[in-house]
Amino acid sequence: MRRILLLSFALFPALVFASQGESPAEPLEQPSLHVLASAPSETELRATIEKLVGFGTRHTLSDTKSDTRGIGAARRWVKARFEAISHDCGGCIEVVTPSQMFTGKRIPQSTEVMDVVAIKRGSEGSKRVIVMTGHLDSRVTDVMNATSDAPGANDDASGVAALIEAARLLSKEDNRATLVFAALSGEEQGLYGGKVLADYATAQGWQVQADLNNDIMGNSRGQNGVLDNTTVRVFSEGTKSNETDAQAKYRRYHGGEVDSPSRNVARYMEQTAERYLPDLRVHMVYRTDRYARGGDQVSFLEAGYPAVRISEGHEDYTRQHQDLRTEKDIRYGDTIDGVDFRYLARVTALNTVTMAAMSRAPAPPTGVDIEGALATDTTVHWKKVPGAAGYSVHWRDTTAPQWQFSRAVGDTDQAVIKDVVIDDWFFGVSSVSADGYESPVAFPGDAGSFVRSPPVASKP
Ligand SMILES: [Zn+2]
Repeated sequence: MRRILLLSFALFPALVFASQGESPAEPLEQPSLHVLASAPSETELRATIEKLVGFGTRHTLSDTKSDTRGIGAARRWVKARFEAISHDCGGCIEVVTPSQMFTGKRIPQSTEVMDVVAIKRGSEGSKRVIVMTGHLDSRVTDVMNATSDAPGANDDASGVAALIEAARLLSKEDNRATLVFAALSGEEQGLYGGKVLADYATAQGWQVQADLNNDIMGNSRGQNGVLDNTTVRVFSEGTKSNETDAQAKYRRYHGGEVDSPSRNVARYMEQTAERYLPDLRVHMVYRTDRYARGGDQVSFLEAGYPAVRISEGHEDYTRQHQDLRTEKDIRYGDTIDGVDFRYLARVTALNTVTMAAMSRAPAPPTGVDIEGALATDTTVHWKKVPGAAGYSVHWRDTTAPQWQFSRAVGDTDQAVIKDVVIDDWFFGVSSVSADGYESPVAFPGDAGSFVRSPPVASKP
């Protein structure tokens, strides 16, 4: 992609007019991110999953008192693990356990759903937050069965192992925005832990720029036998879950149906992998989740926060939500032998590098807007954000999945893109730090804004 960009700049060297500055802050290749990309440890990931499987079941309605079995023991172990990581970095992480009581279709009696959350405050002292989630709870065939062994090695001890490993690695690194690593509960009973964390984020006034929700991410052998340890899927919604009718009407006419902030986080991850993880391809899927299935990112989307779901490229359903058994020579159940640790380490690296990059970059620009009807140039303007030393304007063909063209325009709040007609392209703007870290691209208007708008009340 970068080679294509360079070529297009060579062909059209004067397309962009930068309003000031001879050498504007530009996105730069970051050697420290190359180091992080190879840092996740298969040994650490394996040790975590072995430990979690060892609790027998982590069903949300399982025992909370035992020290060796059930969701309570698992939660306390994760909390102790985060505290140990914090101890090793001089107390750089604080651990909180937000919870709420729920009853519902899959929770017949009022039950406490508790998340275990590690918070590493950012050096910029803002409320800006990048979140990584996975779910701790597990299940077998009957979603109400809280006693049978439910190892949940891949669904979703893989996600929890990844976020603990990301916390361990990033505890030793600089971050400007705050990083949050959260092991959620209640997913299988109805996405309750995601709601607990999204509510906690809102109560804290966090400006969540992304939730990277990792669920079912460690298996590289599909049920049909396909082997693929080089592809990971990133699911993202096209339009905001909490879009108002008026916003939808504007967006239908002017575009933006494939440019929610969540979608532009997915694009960011795709480019991050291209640059720092050449052995891992991000397969962007233009859906909120797999067909007719869900995940904890949905709670964030409903609360008005950008979020994506990260899952392995090929699933094996004989290993998901199954009683441990053998039938007609097929072994069912989510056991640890179904986890490919090299693959899991690569997907963990994708998360780790994305979190580091987003947290070191400034927030995406706010108030992005475009003008130029009946003109041959397009004017893009935005509001400056703290910590940005410059901005890049991006554009692409309206049918292209990824941003195709970009130009660093300096520390300004607008740019005129000469001879690029507003009618024919999609536009966006990213922020760039003085040391060359770039934010995701924000698409113009409400459709693409990373600023949270509160949930829309559902109609009667
Ligand atoms: Zn799951």
